[in-house]
Amino acid sequence: MKNNVPVILLIYTGGTIGMVKDYKSNALKPFDFENIKVKIPELKLLDCNIETTAFESPIDSSDMSPNYWVMIAEIIENRYHDIDGFVVLTGTDTMSYTASALSFILNNLSKPVIFTGSQLPIGDLRTDAKENLITAIQVAATHENQIPKIQEVGLYFEYKLYRANRTTKISSEQFEAFESPNYPNLGESGVHLNFNDQWLHKADRNQTLSLEKDFNANIVILKLFPGINRNTVEHILEFPGLEGVILETYGAGNAPTDDWFSDALKKTIDRKIPVINVTQCISGSVSMGHYETSMHLKNAGVISGKNITTESAIAKLKLLLGKKIPFQKFKSKFETPIRGEMS
Ligand code: ASP
Repeated sequence: MKNNVPVILLIYTGGTIGMVKDYKSNALKPFDFENIKVKIPELKLLDCNIETTAFESPIDSSDMSPNYWVMIAEIIENRYHDIDGFVVLTGTDTMSYTASALSFILNNLSKPVIFTGSQLPIGDLRTDAKENLITAIQVAATHENQIPKIQEVGLYFEYKLYRANRTTKISSEQFEAFESPNYPNLGESGVHLNFNDQWLHKADRNQTLSLEKDFNANIVILKLFPGINRNTVEHILEFPGLEGVILETYGAGNAPTDDWFSDALKKTIDRKIPVINVTQCISGSVSMGHYETSMHLKNAGVISGKNITTESAIAKLKLLLGKKIPFQKFKSKFETPIRGEMS
């Protein structure tokens, strides 16, 4: 804090929020982010000092990758001592993946890291960018007795603040583009900015921030559908170099009971490749053994993803594999929440 005023760092990585329309060609193009205060003069009215930094070449979030996740984390780490809150702007398409990953990368985080973006570019007349950006900054700047209100990675979008690793993108059309189906909102913005204190993470502020940077990308998502072909399943699971599988199942974690399917899973697990059961349902939890159609998965040693999102499961799986956790311990490690990502 400088003279009791929080300092907020805006990190622009790319995405619609930082684009303007070229009225000659009608195409969207990135604008110079250093000029953000010119584009949104209201930023000067906020009760905080705003600094900005941007990726040298902003990316569409479809090009996001673990290397960029680490780049964002390193920007945060390098400024952690003199910045009070961070607002990360990315494209919405993969924002839940990136924000979930950052929640795992940033070990002992005790300052706000708030992700936001927009459905319409900042230069558009009907843009949602201004409200999202201004309120995300306010969230990151909210302190009580010099202690930040938010001490975790959040995602703010269209009047709602969510725990980032609980979110999923649900619409490419509505301004309300995200949802946190299995965890209550951390806050809402109406006439007042309200926080739901009982759902906020309380960090141990004596610990030092460190980064978890080792990701193992040799994983696959196998999404079930009625009539899925035996050859396809065996081909995917027998792929050389495969080290982890997210199995997207039906309902409460159910899957076909054909012998060939159970055998393929057993063979995979015998090769010490963890298989995580994540439901295709938008909300609710995996509960293996609840139906007969999940008993064989439980018996084969499939790991329960409980109510984790696929976005979070990917980051967690890549990270735990990167930590080279012994196979016998992998199940209990994965089934234990690390950053409030499952319950
Ligand atoms: N395609 C864009 C992206 O995710 C969409 C957006 O910014 O909302 O980068």
